[in-house]
Formats: sequence, C-alpha cells, structure tokens
Amino acid sequence: MPTLNDIRSTFLSFFERNGHRVVESSPLVPRNDPTLMFTNSGMVQFKNLFTGVETRDYKRATTAQKCVRAGGKHNDLDNVGYTARHHTFFEMLGNFSFGDYFKEQAIPFAWELLTKDFGIPKDKLLVTVYHTDDEAANIWKKVAGLTDDRIIRIPTDDNFWRMGPTGPCGPCTEIFFDHGDHIWGGPPGSADEDGDRFIEIWNLVFMQNEQFEDGSMRALDMQSIDTGMGLERIGALLQGKHDNYDTDLMRSLIEASAHATSNDPDGPGKVHHRVIADHLRSTSFLIADGVMPSNEGRGYVLRRIMRRAMRHAHMLGAQDPVMHKLVPALVRQMGAAYPELTRAQALIEETLRSEETRFRQTLDRGLRLLDDELARLPEGANLPGEAAFKLYDTYGFPLDLTQDALREQGRAVDTAGFDAAMAEQKAKARAAWAGSGEATDAAIWFELAEKHGATEFLGYDTEEAEGQI
Ligand code: ATP
Ligand code: MG
Ligand code: MG
Ligand code: MG
Repeated sequence: MPTLNDIRSTFLSFFERNGHRVVESSPLVPRNDPTLMFTNSGMVQFKNLFTGVETRDYKRATTAQKCVRAGGKHNDLDNVGYTARHHTFFEMLGNFSFGDYFKEQAIPFAWELLTKDFGIPKDKLLVTVYHTDDEAANIWKKVAGLTDDRIIRIPTDDNFWRMGPTGPCGPCTEIFFDHGDHIWGGPPGSADEDGDRFIEIWNLVFMQNEQFEDGSMRALDMQSIDTGMGLERIGALLQGKHDNYDTDLMRSLIEASAHATSNDPDGPGKVHHRVIADHLRSTSFLIADGVMPSNEGRGYVLRRIMRRAMRHAHMLGAQDPVMHKLVPALVRQMGAAYPELTRAQALIEETLRSEETRFRQTLDRGLRLLDDELARLPEGANLPGEAAFKLYDTYGFPLDLTQDALREQGRAVDTAGFDAAMAEQKAKARAAWAGSGEATDAAIWFELAEKHGATEFLGYDTEEAEGQI
C-alpha cells in the first residue's frame, strides 16, 4: 500500500516525466502578498506568472505545496474533525502550465495519472464543469468516455475558482470519487452534496481571467493551467480508506495523541484526536515558516488554532501540556519531505510547550465559567455575547474556541452581542490612548483594522483582532 510520502513522489515524477519542472513548496506566509493570510493553494507562488508580470525559464511546473486554510476566503477550521476530507493544513499536489498547454492536455494528464498510474477504477469517478464550458465537457467525453450523467454542469462559484478577492482566476473542472452508497451524501450540485460520499479529489482550473478589487475582471493574454489535488484525499482513496484521518500519516499522529493522553484513538475522544492531529500540523508548519503566536494578524490565527487544540487535549483529560510531545511523531512523518520542519523542531516544541503552559492557567477557570453560564441558560439557548467576550478578554478564549466548545452541545454564541462588547472596549481603549498622546502599536492596529475591515487582512470574520493575554 503506498504511503502518503510514496504518493507525493509518484505525482511529482509523473509530471516531471511529462516535461514539468519540480518546484519546491513556497512558505505558508506568502511573499509580497498582503492580500492573503496564508498560502492556500499551489498557484499562490505562481500568481505573477499567470498574469504575465513575471516569466521564468520554465513553462510547466509541478509542486507539492503546503497549504493552510484557516481564514479568509477558504476557511476550513470549523470543518476539521467533523468531515472526512478537511484539514487546516494539507498538501496540495499540482501541475501548472504558464501559457503552454491548456484544457486539451490538462484533462488527459489528470485522467492518465488517476486511472493508469494510480489504477483508480473509471466507474468510480465523475466530474463537474462550469455550466457554460462545453469545451471541457467535450474533452471529458472524448478522453475519458464519461457519459453525460457523469459530467455535471455547475452554475455556481464552486466551478469558478478564485484564490481570494483579487488575482488570477477561471472556470474549473473538478474530479470526484464515489466512495459508495454506504456513506451519506449526494453528487455535486445535488441537495445532499455536503455529505462525504462523493469526495472532490482534484480541481483543474483554466486560468484565463484576473479579478480586481473593484469587482471587475479582465481576460488574461495567455491561457494557463493550475491544478490542485489534496494529497490526504488521494491518499485515503489509494489506501482503501474513506476518511483522510485514516491515512498512514494522519493515523500515526492520532495514535501519538492517544498515547500522550492515555486514551483510545477510536474511543469517545475520537474527534478530539482528529482535531489535535490536524492542528499539530498547521501550528508546527506555521512556526517553521516563521509565524509566532501573537495577538494580531497571522500570529493570532496561529494562537487561535493552538488554543483550540489545547482545549481538545484538555477534554481528553490531559493534566499537563500535550502538544509539544507530539512534534517528534510529526517530524518522523514529514521531516524528510520538509526539512524546515526538522530544523525548527526545537523552536516548535518550545513554543507549543510555553503557550500551552500559559493557556492552561486560564483554560480551566474559563471552562468552569462557561459551564456556569450554560447551566443558567434555557435549553438550546445561545451563549450571550458578553459571556463570550468575558471568556475572550479575561481567559484568553478566542471566539472560535468558545464556538467550538458550544458546538458539542448544539449551541452557538450571540456574535452580535460579542461584537458590541468588543466595540465598547475598543472605544474605551481609544479614549485612554488619546489621552496619552502616544501612537501605540495597538492603536495603529485599530486604525488598520478599521480601514480594511475585518476581512482577508485579519483572516476572520468578527473583529477579534486584538485578543488579550
Ligand atoms: P471542498 O469543496 O471539498 O471544500 P475545495 O473545492 O474548497 O474543496 P479547492 O480549492 O478546489 O478545494 O482545492 C483543490 C484541492 O485541494 C481539492 O480538490 C482537495 O483535494 C484539496 N483540498 C481543498 N481543501 C482541503 C482541505 N481543507 N483539506 C484537505 N484537502 C483539501
Ligand atoms: Mg473548500
Ligand atoms: Mg469544492
Ligand atoms: Mg475545488
């Protein structure tokens, strides 16, 4: 059975054999791209090649790209642990053409790799195309012999790919694998498409447009290809599993979590182990790429992910910091493919250890406060915004951590109330600073947050940028 490490190599050598330059993953913090919180797809490092601003000595490339989707346009944080197919950190395998081949070649490449090299049975695959893209539909018919009912036309943005609010973009075709009718879910475009039966494995984007901030779009001078396939998803499939978290790599992290907390990996704490395994990867790779936990911007997103994982470890009954103990298992699995992880191992362990030690000082009391608040609420009622704000302000609970905790009970937070409490505190803080006459970092941050709004720039939806503790 191929391991994820094997599958990554097979992918890269297939495209290398087909004239592509093997290019290294770029860091998770995009270089010179303030519009993007974290690298969220393989095309990010090639953005300027698609628009023609930059050229290189190759027109075809292939990569295994580190991606984090925990903020901004693509945010999968709340899916983690609950769906079979989402991580905050994952590897995206891609092949790229910069004004070289287009659809007529990208589709056959994908089909050949999947059905020949990977040996996936054809009758388990189906595809979507953008509703107006007859050309792509015809190529699929010709190359793969797919019948019309297995080429689904989608009129929504699901088949028009965008990295973020600006940048190169275009219609796409997505390849799905049918894991069988014992799993709930309908084909793409159906009412039950959110289920996990039909899993999207590969997205081929036909880059032909550029999106601007004012909402306008231009046609690019050249037509290019950008594809992305989740290594963990293709891995699950090739290992005969349905769930990404059952792949060799994720499984070894789940077992490390179970071992460190003296728990059963498949027992009642299963979801906790999944979240911990996922968040261990995103936090470790972010630290290896130079992000440190802080109260704003990227550092705050990192802190939020770390603290979420730490609450899950706490739920497993951990009495001491856990996360740093899992780093060696991760380095064993991924250190060879990503040497930066090995180089940063000591820093990652120390950062996790001190962050968890610190957070544990308030975590217990915060959770007790949360329990008390909940006990006073009528059944199913939402947590008042002021309570969530107190947890945030006094106990260092990022809003999404509280939401994550409530989810287990089918409850939510009154976010409007939370925002109001936050706004009130900000107003007070601003008044205090105005008196001091000093432009503090935090004051500058408020200005920026106000100017740009709590959008891609902050990476989350409510204005919780300036978290305390
Ligand atoms: P989905 O609809 O399942 O959320 P997507 O359409 O958002 O996926 P793309 O933006 O098309 O995903 O990314 C290309 C590929 O990367 C996907 O086909 C999938 O294999 C993989 N992928 C995307 N998001 C994740 C994730 N959060 N975790 C693991 N793999 C992912
Ligand atoms: Mg998605
Ligand atoms: Mg999709
Ligand atoms: Mg997609």
